[in-house]
Amino acid sequence: MPLVHMRDMLQHAHRNRYAVGAFDLVSLEFLEAIMAGAEAARAPVILSLAESHFEYFDFELAMAATVAAARRASVPVAIHLDHGEHFDSAVRGINLGCNGVMIDASHHPLEENIALTRQVVEMAHACGVPVEGELGYVPGVEGEDAERHPGDVVYTSVEDAKRYVDETGVDFLAVSIGTVHGRMKGEPKLDFDRLAEIDAALGIPLVIHGGTGLSDEQFRRLIERGVTKINYYTALADAAGRRMQDNAGNDARSYTDFTRGVRDAIREEVVRCIELWGSAGQADAVLDTAERWEPVEHVILYNVEGLTDEDVEEMMAEGRRVLSKIPGVLRVGTGQAVKEDAQYRFCWLVTFCHPAVIDSYRDHPDHRRFADERFRPYAGGRVSIDYRMIED
Ligand SMILES: [Zn+2]
Repeated sequence: MPLVHMRDMLQHAHRNRYAVGAFDLVSLEFLEAIMAGAEAARAPVILSLAESHFEYFDFELAMAATVAAARRASVPVAIHLDHGEHFDSAVRGINLGCNGVMIDASHHPLEENIALTRQVVEMAHACGVPVEGELGYVPGVEGEDAERHPGDVVYTSVEDAKRYVDETGVDFLAVSIGTVHGRMKGEPKLDFDRLAEIDAALGIPLVIHGGTGLSDEQFRRLIERGVTKINYYTALADAAGRRMQDNAGNDARSYTDFTRGVRDAIREEVVRCIELWGSAGQADAVLDTAERWEPVEHVILYNVEGLTDEDVEEMMAEGRRVLSKIPGVLRVGTGQAVKEDAQYRFCWLVTFCHPAVIDSYRDHPDHRRFADERFRPYAGGRVSIDYRMIED
């Protein structure tokens, strides 16, 4: 199962001066194409889902497919929530299987950005999940033309970056040094000296948003100065769009006529980037050093006293509702033994995204309240064990 800890993946890249592609996906075709590109180039890869794109697809369904694609991969994969706007966005992303989250409060004043980011970092770290913050302002939205989102670039200052990282504890920092989201008009002017100073001051993986339209030479210089994760979407969407236009010109009529070859077009651009950014061929080295991202199954077998079967069902339903919202909980399963004479008649199967959740779940006020008031008083005989699941 080559889902790996994103912290380890990006630290390997940072030490070895290459960058991992964080490719945003908006459909199954993107997901398949990105994975095919990473496999072909033997590269670590980040599958990225941007909150601003959730109008294009069902996030929950897309996550199920994304997790499945990551688990069957032979190259190391991380799954990232891109541009989460709120605390709750980050919790939702983690509980659906993201093992990295970005909180983007960069449009708020610095104090507010620090406060919200710190709150997300505390929650996410208690789930084992690393966090990307952003400082400064990269104009635009993924896939939109920057010229339709006016607003000047607000450059990240070295002093603010140092303070922001110290006070929030973010693992990675998205910096604003002259790129814009979407398509650029003219040649972007990047502040490489500023980037080098930020890199020297922080020593953590840096992230660039708005990679579309940069020259090969610009990418090379960014990576030399600490850029370790490159967010990339617009050029993939454009490659897909061009292929569909070509298909239209060739008398395409049906959906599958229009989308023929779209995966290949996306994959070719993914491979070009992976080779340019130096992550090609790094898959095995990352697998050797990175912690595997493995869920934990929190199993409780129990019997009840003083409750009817109906009461038990009600208690289970409340538990599924309340406990599944606790950060780091992927799933809450409840069950009743098939055979009446089973040693334990009922069970909870609670899946945590990471072993760190064993402690943070136990101490979470919603869990404590439910356990103390609704469960333990009636469940005298019980066993409780946490299992690290062993899978291929
Ligand atoms: Zn972005």
